[in-house]
Amino acid sequence: MKKLSKHAWTAAHSAELYGINNWGAGYFGVADNGEVSITAQGTDGKLSSVSMLSLVKEIKERGMDMPVLIRVENILAQQIIRLNEAFNRAITNGGYQAPYRGVFPVKVNQQSQVIEEIAQVGAKYGHGLEAGSKPELLIALAHLESREACIVCNGYKDEEFIDLGLQALKMGYRVFFVIETLTELPIIIERSRALGIKPLIGVRVKLASMVGGHWNASSGDRSIFGLTIAQLVSLLDTLKAEDMLDCLQLLHYHLGSQIPNIRDIRTGVLEACQVYRDLVTEGACMGYLDLGGGLAVDYDGSKTNYLHSRNYTINEYCNDIIDVVMSTLDPSGVAHPTLITESGRATVAYSSVLLFNVLDVANFEPGPLPETISPEENPMILKLWELQGTANVRNIQECYNDALFYRDETRELFKAGQVNLRSRSLAENLFLQIMHQLLDLADDAPREHREMEKLRELLSDIYYCNFSLFQSLPDVWAIDQIFPVMPIHRLTEEPTRQGIIADITCDCDGKIDKFVDTHNTKRTLPLHTLKDNDEYYIGVFLVGAYQETLGDLHNLFGDTNVANVRITADGNFEFIHEIQGDSIADVLSYVEYNPQQMQDRFRRIAERAVGEGRITAKERSTIMSAFSASMRGYTYYER
Ligand SMILES: *Cc1c(COP(=O)(O)O)cnc(C)c1O
Repeated sequence: MKKLSKHAWTAAHSAELYGINNWGAGYFGVADNGEVSITAQGTDGKLSSVSMLSLVKEIKERGMDMPVLIRVENILAQQIIRLNEAFNRAITNGGYQAPYRGVFPVKVNQQSQVIEEIAQVGAKYGHGLEAGSKPELLIALAHLESREACIVCNGYKDEEFIDLGLQALKMGYRVFFVIETLTELPIIIERSRALGIKPLIGVRVKLASMVGGHWNASSGDRSIFGLTIAQLVSLLDTLKAEDMLDCLQLLHYHLGSQIPNIRDIRTGVLEACQVYRDLVTEGACMGYLDLGGGLAVDYDGSKTNYLHSRNYTINEYCNDIIDVVMSTLDPSGVAHPTLITESGRATVAYSSVLLFNVLDVANFEPGPLPETISPEENPMILKLWELQGTANVRNIQECYNDALFYRDETRELFKAGQVNLRSRSLAENLFLQIMHQLLDLADDAPREHREMEKLRELLSDIYYCNFSLFQSLPDVWAIDQIFPVMPIHRLTEEPTRQGIIADITCDCDGKIDKFVDTHNTKRTLPLHTLKDNDEYYIGVFLVGAYQETLGDLHNLFGDTNVANVRITADGNFEFIHEIQGDSIADVLSYVEYNPQQMQDRFRRIAERAVGEGRITAKERSTIMSAFSASMRGYTYYER
């Protein structure tokens, strides 16, 4: 990292360092006062900004502790609007003859405030919902009032699911049953006959097109869901025989989530259009083409086809889709289908930020070293002592190898009982001292040493932070997802430390040690030194998609507090909704404990201790109060 003198460091340097203007999509930035700001459109359409730190202060005044998940309703609304307007523009500009009717897949974020906001803002655009299970269908039915909006039912559907969907269809909902396996078809046919309601049938196909990225298992021959082309033909034959070809109205495919490369998106649409055209030729009614999800989020801000990015904008995504559909279908004179996409990630990722405070920092600095060293020390330690003075820009590699050798030899001698605890400690400190010297030298060295990169990581600080990765950021653990992470204040100060983030689950997997960088990822994050008594807040951004309900109760850390806020036109914010996170009693009862019984048992044990004279009756009362206060309390670290 380039060294700048302290006074020269500004908010702009921090913005550059953390790449916030690359991944923030205009919603997040650094204000001149060094605080991260959220910028969103108010109801009057004007942009206004608020400081995240002032949001934290307000949250604390309301009695909520860190960690807290902040959901910004305006951002969610704006993403729905961006997507719909981008499609509408592409439709108008391209002269496309049918509308866009997006659906939000409920599985991506099922929280009721999220679904309510999507239904409300989406009503104007006929934005619907995708349901993959019975509970999700119930959510869709209870929230969609617009008759333009589609409900796309994917996943396995039993008789109960199908009956409910058919009755909803009769009421005026536009409910599509998407056939994922051929076994579903007879049930749909049988139930629709029994109820006398003609179904709207869709079919999910497996495309041969494969995509790059994490989720490419959703595409290609071996993908789990959807019909093969041969099965599709058999479906056509069945529907023909049942005189129900007019019910087949929708073709669906889903190539997987987070598709980084626009070329893969085009290839998928192209193949699907060929299928669509032939279904029309076969006599199916059709009318809807559902391209699934996959619209990516640029988590690292690199605008590339790298895993955590995307090499296209929303506008390019929409234009390309319209372009491919028209150029594939127009030559055969097939009417333009209503376009559906099932964008989940891109719709909700931006609207949530996880905030936590830092509890402690561990560093790998050498302990105090003596002025002189006894010539009686072990020769290996004497060598380390000498090395200290000899490192320079030209012998970095040599010093590194030597120091490592002498340290390892000392460790062997210790194991053999020939070096005592104090001498070993001296050797370890000398080694760390030399490593730090080498790192400083490496900053000025003309060529990059590969080991130094690794060394920087090994000597970086560990920031212990008040959250559970397994509860709040499960994808970081499960699939190596990268989210932008940065401090939300003190950004007019140069961050002088390099660190990784550890959570409080005491699980060695509970850490964040890959961070966004415009070129590749980096293994450490620049951070500030802690100031006594001052909280240091870190935000993890773009966490609105998939994280909330995939989380688990590792170490019995429960749901975090949630604050739903809306940024108002005057640059302020309103608290729309607050949700207290799980109490300890809550999480204990999830795993079948009975908090009341636990308390009774503990009371008996305390009573016995009084009887045995270990504690007084008054002490018993204090202990019992502490026990029940803990039961009611937050599962995270409270200050
Ligand atoms: C998960 C899923 C989606 C959502 O994909 P995103 O990439 O989040 O937009 C859409 N459709 C289906 C069938 C899915 O399984």
